[in-house]
Amino acid sequence: MEASISTIHESLEGYLDKAFEMLGCAEDSRLKVLLKNPDRRIEVEIPLIRENGQMTVLHGYRVQHNSARGPFKGGLRYHPSVDLEHSEILASLMTWKSALLNLPYGGGKGGIQLNPKDFKPQELEVITKRYVEKMHMLIGPRIDIPAPDMGTGEREMSWIVDAYSKIYGHQPAVATGKNVQLGGIEGRREATGRGVATVTAWATEEEGISLENATVAIQGFGNVGSEAALHLKDMGARIVSVSDVRGAISRREGLDVKQLVKFLYERREYDSVVDCAREIACDSVSENSEAPLFHEVDILIPAALEGVIHSDNVDQVKARLIVEGANSPITLQADRSLDAKGKVVIPDIMANAGGVTVSYFEWCQNLQGLQWERDQVYLELDRWLKRAWDQLIKVKKKFKCSYREAAYYIAVDRVKSVMEMRGF
Ligand code: NAD
Repeated sequence: MEASISTIHESLEGYLDKAFEMLGCAEDSRLKVLLKNPDRRIEVEIPLIRENGQMTVLHGYRVQHNSARGPFKGGLRYHPSVDLEHSEILASLMTWKSALLNLPYGGGKGGIQLNPKDFKPQELEVITKRYVEKMHMLIGPRIDIPAPDMGTGEREMSWIVDAYSKIYGHQPAVATGKNVQLGGIEGRREATGRGVATVTAWATEEEGISLENATVAIQGFGNVGSEAALHLKDMGARIVSVSDVRGAISRREGLDVKQLVKFLYERREYDSVVDCAREIACDSVSENSEAPLFHEVDILIPAALEGVIHSDNVDQVKARLIVEGANSPITLQADRSLDAKGKVVIPDIMANAGGVTVSYFEWCQNLQGLQWERDQVYLELDRWLKRAWDQLIKVKKKFKCSYREAAYYIAVDRVKSVMEMRGF
């Protein structure tokens, strides 16, 4: 059971309050109000006539948190839990993630409250295009640029480009995460998981943990979790436990994650890691999706949902290093408790920033009419991540603080300075 949305919200406010304190502006109530609250909250209704002739009305959302440093940027999620409050937290995280990476963006997030599995592709196309019809004056290459998130991918981004371009002329830069044929960038799909693995490697080096043969557990074997697993295995780690929404599998000697990816995503023979247990060597299969969180491992990567590690279960976490692949997987109280036990947490706004960084390259590519090679994308991705990582380590050492506190200090400082420069 995940923490409540209000607990996740309070956690983010707690991280921001700490940054205000470190920056010496804890008493500046005007700045705090501006940085904590979004610029704009949008809610739209999307009517759809189903195949049986019945009409259903879906709810779409977009929250635009802060655009001081550039256009709003962030994912579009299709999931039953999408609402304004979820979107508000995730939009705010995007502001801080973009600022930490020094990308010229603010933060946005949104989605449609639905389970994509309940709709046919042609219905999803109508829904996505209606969302754009209702939202087109509030998004755009210089206003707000959506990207894939849970439940959306290349297909939905292509529909957004189509609907938006019908109004404004060809505009591939309106969304990132598109198919390469439509102005997408090589390596975007792999970017977040690859970045998670890269940052994990730097964190192990910093913490004196050997990655060679280190044991890793991953909750969520989707885009982020599976790519992180593949890269960490290539770096010598053993992926001993993985899960998805249907359950978990584990193997002490290490799971064959390449085979898992083949069955789930290349051949699409199975829907869940649990079904793959028929094909690959495993020690155990369970229906407990949370199992990796509490596995006896060196490194834990929560890569599914928000708020999965909270005050009621934090004592069961055994990993020494926790790298946040998902957004906000750890509540403030749990974070403090992990810190008190000497466990190390690498925050989401650093760990999973590879995706938005490559989205930025895609946007630049579209605005300039260029097409980058995959090698160039990875070279630049590593360069941008490393620069942010080095700055984070410098601040962490200066303040003798946690990785998260250092990350928020840098991010809030950058947004605050630009807001003061521009005047508000
Ligand atoms: P995805 O839809 O590809 O995969 C999500 C995975 O989590 C799936 O395997 C799903 O079965 C699993 N899952 C869902 N509920 C679960 C549960 N209760 N227990 C265990 N597993 C569960 O999504 P994704 O793109 O991999 O995103 C995962 C997380 O990473 C999200 O929090 C997302 O916001 C964050 N994130 C994604 C990106 C990106 O570029 N895709 C970038 C930054 C952050």
